Amino acid sequence: MNKNFFLWLETLFAVGSMLVLFFVSSYPESAWLTLRIYILAMIGFTLLLVVAVRYYQRQHSSVDISRICEMVQQIDVPAFIWSNDLSTLFTNQAMDELLGIGESEDPGDTAVLLSNFFHSIGVTPREADEVLNGDTFDSGIDDGSGNKRYISWTTSMLKKGAQASLYFSIGFETTELEEAKRSLTAYAQGLFISQNRYQLSMKLSGIGILLCESVHDVYYVSDEAMHFLGIENDHITFSDFRKKLHPDDRFIFDDYLNRIRHTRPSEVTTSYPSTLELRIRAHAGAPYIWYAYHYHENLTASNGSPIIGGALIDITGEKAKDARIERLAFLDETTEIANRNKLMHDGAETYRICKTMGTCCWIMVLDIDRFHIVNDSYGYETGDKILKNFAHILCKYTAAGGFAARVSADNFVLVLHDYTDYGDEELPGRTLEHIRSDMAGLTTEEMTTLSLTCSAGFARIPSDGDSFHEVLEHAEFALAMGKGELSYVMGYDVNMHREMVSQSEMEKELAEAIEKHHLQLYYQPKVDLKTKKIMGAEALIRWIKPDGTMISPNVFIPIAEKTGMISDISRFVLHEACEQNALWQQMRLTPIVMSINFASGDFYQANVCEVVKDELYKVGLQPKWLELELTERLALGDVNYTVQQMNALRDMGILLAMDDFGTGYSSLSYIQLLPLTLLKLDRSFIIEIETDMVAQEIVSAVIKIAKSMHIETIAEGVEYEAQSEILKRMGCDYIQGYLYGKPMTARDFQKRLEINTYGKELGT
Ligand code: C2E
Ligand code: MG
Ligand code: MG
Repeated sequence: MNKNFFLWLETLFAVGSMLVLFFVSSYPESAWLTLRIYILAMIGFTLLLVVAVRYYQRQHSSVDISRICEMVQQIDVPAFIWSNDLSTLFTNQAMDELLGIGESEDPGDTAVLLSNFFHSIGVTPREADEVLNGDTFDSGIDDGSGNKRYISWTTSMLKKGAQASLYFSIGFETTELEEAKRSLTAYAQGLFISQNRYQLSMKLSGIGILLCESVHDVYYVSDEAMHFLGIENDHITFSDFRKKLHPDDRFIFDDYLNRIRHTRPSEVTTSYPSTLELRIRAHAGAPYIWYAYHYHENLTASNGSPIIGGALIDITGEKAKDARIERLAFLDETTEIANRNKLMHDGAETYRICKTMGTCCWIMVLDIDRFHIVNDSYGYETGDKILKNFAHILCKYTAAGGFAARVSADNFVLVLHDYTDYGDEELPGRTLEHIRSDMAGLTTEEMTTLSLTCSAGFARIPSDGDSFHEVLEHAEFALAMGKGELSYVMGYDVNMHREMVSQSEMEKELAEAIEKHHLQLYYQPKVDLKTKKIMGAEALIRWIKPDGTMISPNVFIPIAEKTGMISDISRFVLHEACEQNALWQQMRLTPIVMSINFASGDFYQANVCEVVKDELYKVGLQPKWLELELTERLALGDVNYTVQQMNALRDMGILLAMDDFGTGYSSLSYIQLLPLTLLKLDRSFIIEIETDMVAQEIVSAVIKIAKSMHIETIAEGVEYEAQSEILKRMGCDYIQGYLYGKPMTARDFQKRLEINTYGKELGT
């Protein structure tokens, strides 16, 4: 407001008031009239003032708007001033361009265009007052070439009027922003769709993803994998994941992590994904499900660190199919646990993992004591039942990790995981104790007199050998040290081998011993129980070193069999024994049957009959004075071939004995099958024959069966007269054992033969 204008008005008002006061004081008699004149004058002044102010305002407001219009014109973004009755309108150049208002446009036309503009944004100019004041609104205007320009308008009131108010609107172009927003929305929608598709395809294909890109041991878990793992969060720590794995598979997982972390990309040889097969359970108590975990060994993050992750696929179905195939290839039919093939396969993997992870497992080789007794006296059905139940007991101890296998007749292997850091040396012994007490419940109704026990040898993976095979051999070696002792348990110890030189050295030495004739035959008498006279001899080989030490055939025969040197040894034995027997006959000593032990390798030689025939001919011995001792192991090979070879030997007149009878799995069936002339009852029956009623029953039954088939019987390892008496009563034909003489040199045996023939030694 112009201050001078109001000063002028106020001065006028003050002078008027002073004049009124002057007249009232000078002419009191006319005061009433003066007062009325004054009041009228005041009303007149006031009216004059209002009119003046309004006139002034009208005059001056139009001046301000024109100033604002000038400023608005300077703005290069669309802006306009408008009254909501559209009586006042001003658009700047940018706005004109936007609306397509030409220079020569009539203001009326501009009003129409603006009115259309308001209409296009869905507001009438009148409403704009309430809707737009102080607010922003967006408009999309066609730029004439089919493209939309997006503008965000900000409006503020310049002046409020009774009839119409005046507004100022300024627009900011948001076309680019709008387009970015639209493409972002489209992208998000696309992403949503592809994410949905991804989720759907994951669901349909049943693939769960586990991914760890950070240094923290945490997997990001996809929806499907969350479902597999039974978790609600999309992440899981490695250790929690590991806990969900089957105890046997935890080692596999540890090994995998170790490999991924320590393999440099340059060392990766395969570009194909690798696969682990893992058993996972969602919750404790839930069943384990088989999953294939596919992963790449050379995935790295941008910082070069390895990406640990893979895809989980449920392979329970495939596993069921595999299991059927595996059953055929890897399952022992009788006990339904792993067979030897499976043991060797899984054992090799266990060995590899223990070696790389620095962990430890134990191999226990178990043998049911005197199992042949059960088999022979109670039948195979009971025997099979016992084996099955024994296998069942073993499986109980694999629950914490490990596996059980049956490797032959009553030989089982138990592989146990040792979870201690130090290697629990007592674990095998403790486990064996538990197994033994479980075995007490194995005795069936029929087996009242026999309590079952077992023996074991054990060795540690990986420290007790350079391969699984070797550790297993060492455990077997430890068991063999017990030599049939009941309830025996022994851990492998490198010192066990101290008494014999290392195998390769032993092989070398044995070859040398054969060449230098350090092998010598000893003879053990076989005595007729009726006459108590020597009727035969068993030739038993000895390795006598130059220093006089004698090495047992139990030690070097297996090595000779493995290396093939056995055929040289057998040829030597055949020749030496036959020649010696022929010599004694030439000396007119009572003729005896000479028995020699025949290894299976010898037996499978194509020309075995020829070799024997030639030898007999060479030394001039009749075939009936030669007996070949075979073991049941021999018949485990090709039975038809064995029978054929034996028949050929029998046809020549050679005697055939079954050695160590009763130690095998199905001894009785061999009597029916093979053309035997003699059964040699194993020493293990004889040792306890005085006290063990079952052993007595078996021996007695076997003798009867053999007799019925015209097969003679001889008891091995007879050390006491009482044993001899019992055997005689049972009808056993012959005995062999320390009671009648240990294996002795040819010279000593000859003296015994002389007594046998002449009642005294010749020359004494
Ligand atoms: P085998 O054929 O069963 O021989 C009987 C074994 O029992 C012999 O052991 C003998 O010394 C032992 N023995 C005999 N009577 C008694 C006794 O009353 N008490 C005890 N404690 N032992 C007794 P050896 O000579 O150590 O032979 C062991 C095994 O080595 C033989 O068992 C046989 O399988 C094998 N063997 C021995 N000589 C030869 C051979 O020339 N060729 C082949 N292939 N194997 C042989
Ligand atoms: Mg023998
Ligand atoms: Mg024997």
